[in-house]
This record gives sequence, structure tokens and C-alpha cells, in this order.
Amino acid sequence: MTRIFSGVKPTGHLTLGNYLGAVRQWVATDQKPDDALFCVVDLHALTVEHDPARVRRLSRQAATLLLAAGLDPDRCTLFVQSHVDEHTRLAYLLECTATDGELRRMIQYREKTARAQAAGEGVRLSLLTYPVLMAADILAYGADEVPVGEDQRQHVELTRDLAVRFNQRYGPVFTVPKATLPAVAARVMDLQDPTSKMGKSHENGAGIVYLLDEPEVVRRKVMRAVTDSGEGGVVYDRAARPGVANLLDILAACTGGEPEELARGYEQYGPLKRDVADAVVELLRPLRERHAELAADPGEVERVLRAGAGRARALARPVVDRAYEAIGL
Ligand code: ADP
Repeated sequence: MTRIFSGVKPTGHLTLGNYLGAVRQWVATDQKPDDALFCVVDLHALTVEHDPARVRRLSRQAATLLLAAGLDPDRCTLFVQSHVDEHTRLAYLLECTATDGELRRMIQYREKTARAQAAGEGVRLSLLTYPVLMAADILAYGADEVPVGEDQRQHVELTRDLAVRFNQRYGPVFTVPKATLPAVAARVMDLQDPTSKMGKSHENGAGIVYLLDEPEVVRRKVMRAVTDSGEGGVVYDRAARPGVANLLDILAACTGGEPEELARGYEQYGPLKRDVADAVVELLRPLRERHAELAADPGEVERVLRAGAGRARALARPVVDRAYEAIGL
């Protein structure tokens, strides 16, 4: 059986990008609880300026949304990262395996530090070491596959490098995982700025479709999406026409078609946007309805998370203990 691990940060409300890039793949896996682990990675939300009460609230909201999206607690293990100490225990050993240089080369670190410096803000050390904690998240469970969006590919590559390096130096402790990406919509772009990804913690909410947006809000955001100037009507060209390509990717991901093929069905942007809006509203409708039911019973979500943490701990502890022994502790 292939073991799967993946996570989502409670740094904001979950977006269409999170859903199409990652969560939908998680829901599609039909597994046993020990082989499909999904985590609200709350420690990762502390790498940037944060409000304690908001992080706690968003963690529970993310877990509720994952259940609403279709994760079945009888078929997977859903838990909160900070409930399982093994992640931070292992992260230190991996910090002793990683180099300062390779972490400073991570694209997300470079982008986020550039933004922080431009705003005159300090950069937390944990922003630099975050990919190491992420490697610990994955390696603690011996995961074979990590279903993620395109933006996480580099961090999973680092995880592989660290696993291989540790195994070569100290003995075969870790499974070397690989990233699995969706065929379309692996990188959903911001509707207002299609050169940057739709990210839940970005400031510009107008370009971001949140999973809990009301249908009218989804429609408004999609209809106001920035499209590209240029001749030739609706064509699929991610480099030259990123706005339209993004809409076609979203449509393809919602309807199951091919973006290039779908492009041939449109001459103007208006009808394309209307179809994208309809498709997204329909995609999110069941999720919103189920979320409303689950949110009415927060005790149940809490029970799922406690049980999940118990299962996760039992899986991670022997792996992390082996790593401690192998490294000489
Ligand atoms: P965010 O950048 O929204 O804070 P997370 O780091 O919590 O996202 O990522 C959760 C999952 O969602 C990851 O697998 C990530 O690759 C995926 N993801 C995030 N944004 C997008 C996007 N715009 N398009 C596709 N996948 C995405």
C-alpha cells in the first residue's frame, strides 16, 4: 500500500487553489487510515506575523473544511501538527542534516523575505527552517507520496535530498517520498494578478476565490478576473496569456476537460468567464453545505482531530525513535 501524507497551513481561509491543487487529490484517495494522513500544519503558520486566536480558529476551520470536502475520518487520519510532538523532535535532526545554503536557495523563502524586507519587517528564523519542519512532517510517517500543488514541489525535492543524505550517512531510516501533482490546475493563479499564485495569505482578496465564498461573490470575482490584451480571441498560452490560461485551467479542473480543447469553444472572454463562474459555484456548493452542517457541531471535529493525533503519534514515534538511535542519541 502506498502511504500518503500532505498538509495545509492555517494562515488564512482555504482557497480554490488549495482545493484544486491539493485537497481534491486527497479526497480522491481511497485508503486505510494508516495510509492516508492529512494534517493542518499549524506550526507553519507561526513563521510569519500571526494572531494566536486567529491561528487556532483557522486550524479548526481548515479541519472542518477538509471534512466538508470529503475526507472520511474512517478512511484517513486527519490531525493537527502541533498535537504530535514527533514533528518537532524530528525536525531538529533534519536541521543537523540540511545546510544553511540549500535552505536560503528555496524560492518561497527568497520571495517571502524580499516582501518582508520591502515592508521593513524582520524575518523569523522559522521561515528559513520551515522546509525542514515540512520534511519532518513527511518523513516521520514514511510517506511514499505527497500530493501537493506546484509551489510545494521544491520543498518535497528538499525532503527527498534530506532523506537520502540521512540514510546514506546514518543508515536506512527514511522512505524517500515523491511529490504527486494534479494534471491540471497544479498552480491556480490570482484572478487579479495572473502572474502570481492564488495564495490564501495574500492581501488582495479580490483575486482569490475562497472555498466558503457565497455564490454571488464567486461570480463577481470570476467576472472581474483580469484577462489579457492581444489578438486572437481565446487561446491557451500560459506564458503569453496567463489570465485566460488560468480561467481555462480552472474550467478544465472543474469539468474534467482539456484546457486547449475548451479554448476552442470560445471566441470571447465573457462567455468563458460565465462558464467558469458556474462551474466553480457548482463545484463548491456541496462543500459549503456540508461545512455549514459540520460547523454546527464543533465537538465532533474536535473528536476527529484527537483520534487522528493518537493514530498519527503511534505511526510517527517508532520512525523518529529509529532516527534518534541512528544519529547517535
Ligand atoms: P497557501 O499558499 O494557500 O498558504 P498551503 O501552503 O497551505 O497554501 O498549501 C496547501 C496545499 O495547497 C499545498 O499542497 C499547495 O501546493 C497547494 N496550493 C496552494 N496554493 C495553490 C494554488 N494557487 N494552486 C494550486 N495548489 C495550491
